[in-house]
Amino acid sequence: MSHLGELVNEQTNTLITDKGVEMTTASVPSGAILQRDKQTYAIVPRLPGGLLNLEILQNLALVVEKYQIPLVKITSGQRVALIGMPADQLDDIWHDLGLEAGKATELCLHYVQTCPGTEVCTFGVQDSLAFGLELEEYFSGRDFPAKVKIGVSGCPFSCSESLVRDIGITGKKKGWTVTFGGSSTRNPRAGDVLAENITSQEVKHLLSRCLDYYAKHAKKKERTSRFIDRIGLENFKKVIL
Ligand code: SF4
Repeated sequence: MSHLGELVNEQTNTLITDKGVEMTTASVPSGAILQRDKQTYAIVPRLPGGLLNLEILQNLALVVEKYQIPLVKITSGQRVALIGMPADQLDDIWHDLGLEAGKATELCLHYVQTCPGTEVCTFGVQDSLAFGLELEEYFSGRDFPAKVKIGVSGCPFSCSESLVRDIGITGKKKGWTVTFGGSSTRNPRAGDVLAENITSQEVKHLLSRCLDYYAKHAKKKERTSRFIDRIGLENFKKVIL
């Protein structure tokens, strides 16, 4: 299980060596995360909404068997990490998987975490799964000052941990509640409510304004939680509402 530490460090993009020294992951192959042994890598395919189908599952099983991948782990971001491969296998593994690389260390939208919502959950009041997929597509490919994570929950139970994501979208009977600046890191912070009872279209417009402002004014690697703490919630609201 010694490889798992670096996956946890999706939080910081750094590796902690046995001597407690931090090293960046900037020099590792694209889309891969160097592991503690400094010889093997983890990869995390892009799986919008955490959804799997028969073809993806079959390919995963074939790849794990063919390359004797030592560890496969579901991550906190509803992704599947393949862990412990040498660098010279990575291209072949990606080819056989037939999946796009998920974001691992880049400063951009990393994932949209969703719950099943009204698709299947009896408590659901909004279609969080469909809206999460839509938001993932909408904001993918944009660069930000730091990684951005979104959580979309189909009701106030907030199973997608939306309140501690950079952007939280929570379904209520009259529409969506939007929170900004949440964090589940070592300095946890609940996101601040920016709007309530708004439509999906209004959420997208609001988030575009929030992320445009964040992209322009945040310092490099400054997550949304620290950004809001630095500039002040009321100042942020004055600009984006
Ligand atoms: S947040 Fe609500 S809708 Fe989503 S899984 Fe939890 S209980 Fe169901």
